[in-house]
Amino acid sequence: MYDVIVIGAGPAGSVTARTVALAGYNVLIIEKNETCMSPCAGYISKTINFEVPHESVLQSNIKRMRTYFPDESYHDFSLNGYVVDRPSFDMSLLSKARELGAQIMWNSPLIEISPEKVKFHNGSAPGRIIVGADGVFSKTASILRLQQQRFAACAQYNVNGIELISQTCEIFFDSDYAPGGYIWIYPTGEKSAKVGLGMIKGKKSPRENLDSFIAGSKIADRIFGKRTGYIAGALPIGGLREKLVFGNVLLAGDSAGMADPITGAGINNAILAGELAGKTIIKALENDDITLLWEYETKIRKLLGRPLDRALEKRIKMDACYYNNLLQEHLPELWVTFKQYWV
Ligand SMILES: Cc1cc2nc3c(=O)[nH]c(=O)nc-3n(C[C@H](O)[C@H](O)[C@H](O)COP(=O)(O)OP(=O)(O)OC[C@H]3O[C@@H](n4cnc5c(N)ncnc54)[C@H](O)[C@@H]3O)c2cc1C
Repeated sequence: MYDVIVIGAGPAGSVTARTVALAGYNVLIIEKNETCMSPCAGYISKTINFEVPHESVLQSNIKRMRTYFPDESYHDFSLNGYVVDRPSFDMSLLSKARELGAQIMWNSPLIEISPEKVKFHNGSAPGRIIVGADGVFSKTASILRLQQQRFAACAQYNVNGIELISQTCEIFFDSDYAPGGYIWIYPTGEKSAKVGLGMIKGKKSPRENLDSFIAGSKIADRIFGKRTGYIAGALPIGGLREKLVFGNVLLAGDSAGMADPITGAGINNAILAGELAGKTIIKALENDDITLLWEYETKIRKLLGRPLDRALEKRIKMDACYYNNLLQEHLPELWVTFKQYWV
């Protein structure tokens, strides 16, 4: 019998596993893929208590965000963060959990959760507490009969041989290419970057829109380079789920709707959720009382409830600003680097 079975080896899952394993409990992680491969741009904010990612996973330091309005005018904002290679970053979080004794089963997508056991492809195992950290299309959530979350669809290339602005990530709002969302450029080197977009609705696919932006936008001369990699993925934009704890099952990270509905950023929150989930689970195990798992939900709402609710409100307004002329006018109320967002 495992003390904890974690579904998914993303940041939420690995940090939960690491926290619980550190206290000496036995943990199994089941992961549907053969390695960590969450699609992502890999921007992480440097926040208080945030451990600096290992040098080997760092791709660049970011000191500024430049946000472009549809008419190409822009607004600069100082910030402090990193771009990481996401698969390596996730593997480094997972390694820490494994060093502390957590076990991992690769190629093991979740099939069913019953009171006796967790069933996955290739096997099953009994667990006292289950953590659904299986991302935006969470199977755990669907087993709990929760609704599929609203999501943004994304596409991203790695592009080499392009012109960048030093230590600056660039964000473009232009409904012609990213309806309901935005385009990003995150430097990964002096002349290389992740160039991607997230969008909510529209006639073309994210990849078609991204191809058009790279080849045909007003900055095409600067960013048309050699494409060395492509990923597609999705992130939740519906805000925090109404409930996060279901008996002995709890949800963490994207499966719980913890990504920001406006920026799409979810790594920091997934890590925070993993830490809080882990600590609450330890308390429940120490006291042999799973009702204590409710404290996880209370703590998450206290820390993430307000910012995610605000972002959801902004999301609804941004959806209404589908056309460039409305975005041009309303962007300062809708994007996090403007002070108007926070009033
Ligand atoms: C293109 C793109 C760019 C992004 N860029 C950023 C960014 O720059 N900064 C940022 O903060 N956020 C970004 N995000 C969001 C960020 O990736 C997520 O919020 C974050 O990964 C959430 O972590 P998680 O651990 O909850 O879930 P995930 O990282 O999605 O991990 C879930 C894990 O569960 C596994 N899994 C799924 N289903 C099953 C199953 N049935 N059985 C077993 N395992 C399963 C998956 O394979 C995966 O390993 C981006 C998202 C996308 C799509």
